[in-house]
Amino acid sequence: MSVPLLELRNVHAVAEDTVILRGVDLTINPGEVHALMGPNGAGKSTLASVVMGHPGYRVTDGQILLNGVDIATWSPDQRARAGIFLAFQYPEAISGVSVIQFLRQAMVARKGLSELSVLEVRLELAEWMDRLGMDPAFAERHLNDGFSGGERKRNEVLQMALLEPVVALLDETDSGLDIDALRIVARGVRTVRSEHPAMGVVVVTHYVKLLEEIEPDQVHILVDGQIVHSGGVELAAAIEHDGYDAWRTVLR
Ligand code: ADP
Ligand code: MG
Repeated sequence: MSVPLLELRNVHAVAEDTVILRGVDLTINPGEVHALMGPNGAGKSTLASVVMGHPGYRVTDGQILLNGVDIATWSPDQRARAGIFLAFQYPEAISGVSVIQFLRQAMVARKGLSELSVLEVRLELAEWMDRLGMDPAFAERHLNDGFSGGERKRNEVLQMALLEPVVALLDETDSGLDIDALRIVARGVRTVRSEHPAMGVVVVTHYVKLLEEIEPDQVHILVDGQIVHSGGVELAAAIEHDGYDAWRTVLR
């Protein structure tokens, strides 16, 4: 077996003085897609933030390994350069910066290049926008400025495609993703994976429909900062039917 892309070993994490993650183990091997489900407040977004190195959280125990290397001391920037990608749950509008300008900067950083010509970026961008069925005019829009839910998702998928992450963490909002936005994510993940088959994906979602389309290798249920159960897509269907209550009792 090859070295996992990402491995969490007994990760405990706090925000301020609040204990949020209480011993999370998670192994993402090359090419695998994992889904993370769980009730609101379980710690799903915290887990994604901790992997990204968000300064608001402190890992108090355990290890996070990227390709077998402990990244505990790495800054978020170093992690991004090394190929950890987090699609923000609440992307902010950046006034005056276009989609293409933003992507160019991000690609320069990720690929460790000193420069990347606008033409090169434009060509690669055009190719991916075509593949993802996007209107070329989108590249010139100001980042997240008045984007619809579907456009935000498209933008995330486009970033993922161009930055070629080792592991992509997709944290879905707890509410308000319409069916079109779900399809964009599902189709986008499939398209990017077909081009980068070794990429690992962790998708945080409540939507069974999304999981049916993404077909994750494993589904994990996080409750109170612990993974209480892991299984296949059938777990998601069971949760949709019965809710999380059955899993809460596992802890008590
Ligand atoms: P989920 O994404 O599963 O809904 P979160 O990771 O956002 O859960 O939050 C888990 C718990 O940690 C919640 O009770 C939340 O209020 C708390 N929490 C998250 N971030 C912070 C923070 N920066 N400071 C204090 N508490 C936090
Ligand atoms: Mg969340």
